[in-house]
Amino acid sequence: MYEQNTFAHLPTFLRLDYTKELDGEDVVVIGIPYDLATSNRPGARFGPRAIRAASTQLAWGAQWPWGIDPFEILRVVDYGDLDIDCGFGPNLISAEIMVDVQRILRTGASTLVLGGDHYVTYSLLKAYAETHGPLALIHFDAHSDTWSEKVKRADHGTMFYHATREGLIDPDHSIQVGIRTENNDRMGFEWVTADLIHNRSASFVADRIRNRVGDKNAYLTFDIDCLDPSVAPGTGTPVCGGLFMHQIQSIFYELAKHSINVVGMDVMEVSPPYDHAEITSLAAATIALDLLCFQATART
Ligand code: MN
Ligand code: MN
Repeated sequence: MYEQNTFAHLPTFLRLDYTKELDGEDVVVIGIPYDLATSNRPGARFGPRAIRAASTQLAWGAQWPWGIDPFEILRVVDYGDLDIDCGFGPNLISAEIMVDVQRILRTGASTLVLGGDHYVTYSLLKAYAETHGPLALIHFDAHSDTWSEKVKRADHGTMFYHATREGLIDPDHSIQVGIRTENNDRMGFEWVTADLIHNRSASFVADRIRNRVGDKNAYLTFDIDCLDPSVAPGTGTPVCGGLFMHQIQSIFYELAKHSINVVGMDVMEVSPPYDHAEITSLAAATIALDLLCFQATART
């Protein structure tokens, strides 16, 4: 019997088992192929499929530099995608996503969501806040996504404004990493800008995150445009001067040396129509895998 080729069969995330029957899972991987809240270039609805395809060649036992196979420690399955009816409109879809994720959280699992545009995270925070109370947000992004507005619209640049106002996020324990766009009103969030990270070590950034989050339940959200466009061109709103993969991977690795209670995670804003040679989806798949290694390390 030959071992399964990485390029063969249906591409689940990291070639995990696909199932809708959840029974004692630690982490459930979900694709949410939604991009109707993008303000610039769309296409993130194709993100989950591309990330899964890029991930298939990464599933090889122990991972560098973690030294562990996360699937020997965590029970993880691929739930497939949530069904999105694009005719329903963003607000109705947002409510449906929340209900679907709440149902999964009630099984005792946490989720690793593959987006989809970043507005989806608003629904995820609603679901998580119901279970865990106000969350410390660990937010990797070029943008703050806290733009205020009087009339509530579905927009991937405003959801953390609303999430904060609604008490889903505790800004006093939240931190935004990789920011390199102006916003005069930080709403109380701490910023670790991209410029600062380029001049400091990964352990410095990890310490800042740990000190900010403390012992709170944290939700980690990763907008792929935190990365530099040379590393991640396949996204809706690229901004030059961003982070490189080694910096991100080192920050996660350093972060795992602290005890941080990350209850949920997502990787958002991969837009494959703007990608080249799968570099953005490979970066996103690697980040998602590193987040699983981070969670697995916390269990050891
Ligand atoms: Mn962004
Ligand atoms: Mn964002």
